[in-house]
Amino acid sequence: MILIVSDETTEMFRPVGPKELARIHQLGDRAFPPRLPSQPVFYPVLNEFYARKITSDWNATSPDTGYRGYVTWFRVRAAYAARFEIQTVGASWAKELWVPAEELDEFNANIVGLIEVVAQYDGKCGGEVAVEHSRFTCPVCGYPDLCDEPRPAVGGGSYEICPSCGFQFGVSDEDRGFSFEAWRSSWIERGMPWSSGNIAPVGWDPAVQLTRLEAK
Ligand SMILES: [Zn+2]
Repeated sequence: MILIVSDETTEMFRPVGPKELARIHQLGDRAFPPRLPSQPVFYPVLNEFYARKITSDWNATSPDTGYRGYVTWFRVRAAYAARFEIQTVGASWAKELWVPAEELDEFNANIVGLIEVVAQYDGKCGGEVAVEHSRFTCPVCGYPDLCDEPRPAVGGGSYEICPSCGFQFGVSDEDRGFSFEAWRSSWIERGMPWSSGNIAPVGWDPAVQLTRLEAK
């Protein structure tokens, strides 16, 4: 009898928020961070559709994550993964494993290669966004959460309206002739009001935000 040692792997996904993603990066993209005492089970997901659904419907709709969610992809030694019973949670595609928190170290040791982000959702910026996407800082008022690059290298403006100072890139400047400086001065003179009809983020502080510009 010949014993075959297999290097076969099973691909898995896991939806994470920005805090867990930061911890994963701290671990060299090779392991998932320990669970909290209130989280007795670690849930890797077995298909991308399910992982994307959790990320978009859950992570990206929560103020706790800043409305951001990431789909991570990784491979686990198949022989190890086979130890766990596949759990189907509701729909037939909703397949996941239930790994007890105390076995997470062993699970991590069976990850082959790196944990990669394959999709990113941003509930404030219209759903799925490019993986490289990060929010942009308003060059007028320092608001850090614009969805689009205000003045992309390809030219023109983003047409996004800064919810903080109300500047619309490509319109306030190109069509109406305001410079960033002029708009900023006028906004400061008016007492730095929140310009969007939506409610300002919790803890929004326009004076602190302006110092982001000076720091650059
Ligand atoms: Zn602004």
